[in-house]
Amino acid sequence: MARYRGPVCRLCRRERKKLFLKGIRCNTEKCVMEHREAPPGEVSRKRRRRASGYAIHLREKQGAKRIYGLLEHQFRRYYELAVHKKGITGEILLQLLERRLDNVVYRSGFASSRAIARQLVSHEHFFVNNRKTNISSYLVKPGDKIALKEKSQKLSVITETLKREQKVPGWLSLDRSNFEVEMLNLPGREDIPTDIRVELIIELYSK
Ligand code: SF4
Repeated sequence: MARYRGPVCRLCRRERKKLFLKGIRCNTEKCVMEHREAPPGEVSRKRRRRASGYAIHLREKQGAKRIYGLLEHQFRRYYELAVHKKGITGEILLQLLERRLDNVVYRSGFASSRAIARQLVSHEHFFVNNRKTNISSYLVKPGDKIALKEKSQKLSVITETLKREQKVPGWLSLDRSNFEVEMLNLPGREDIPTDIRVELIIELYSK
């Protein structure tokens, strides 16, 4: 699956906020955003122009896209899907993004970033409902069980992350001893820990 392969800290600087793309490093002093916030190429605050309405909408969309590690056409496809479903488009868009298999692996605490989660999925470390899968965009449904392969249960990249006991959202039920997570229900807006202003994204796409 196509993805951005450039330096990810640059993306945080571009969006002027932490996007948490590098896992554990993002919560340490080593995070570049702890010391420098100016976007790449910007040398002086005096040169910074006031953002237009369009720019604010665009930055919100770009930030969301980067948080979930998607390219424009992939992100847009989720929007198109959300538009055609019943309900509040913004909420459905967030829900679809959260239901991605790589995101569920990340939210469950098996990986410290979505990029690592995606790599684990593509290397077939997980079963979904007892079936091998390497599709990170698989949309997890309520009742689906995602289990770590027995052979992978000793991988330090996973065990070290699980030890951190990251808070797992209520729509997922994690069984640490069996390295298994089940989706209990579809996540609502209030269940998704994010500061993405999804309404701005919907306004941008619907113009
Ligand atoms: Fe962003 Fe993480 Fe890099 Fe900090 S360490 S700039 S939060 S990707």
